[in-house]
Amino acid sequence: MNVIIKTGFESVKHTISFQPQTMLKGNKLVLAGHVRNVEELRTNRNSYLIRATIIRQTSVTLTPYKTSLNIDNARIVTGVKCSCVYNQSGKCKHVAALICNFQAALGKI
Ligand SMILES: [Zn+2]
Repeated sequence: MNVIIKTGFESVKHTISFQPQTMLKGNKLVLAGHVRNVEELRTNRNSYLIRATIIRQTSVTLTPYKTSLNIDNARIVTGVKCSCVYNQSGKCKHVAALICNFQAALGKI
């Protein structure tokens, strides 16, 4: 059975080596309320994908970025995607923001 969860998220773990500034910028996006429409996709009780739209810091009118995290059963991030142009490395501030958003939900920043 497929379920989409939109609230009450548990935190995720990751092994991505973000630049410290990237985490700070991501956190700012979260605090500014730029992380929107967060959804967690679950099938047979296993979450496998988290996705969100992230409003651009430089323009609230341009199309927001679409960012997603693949997670495994232990809620460890196994893959990331972002539609921004900075994401060749998979370490952009939007991915950082989405991860921060999940930690912020538990007050762990
Ligand atoms: Zn990005």
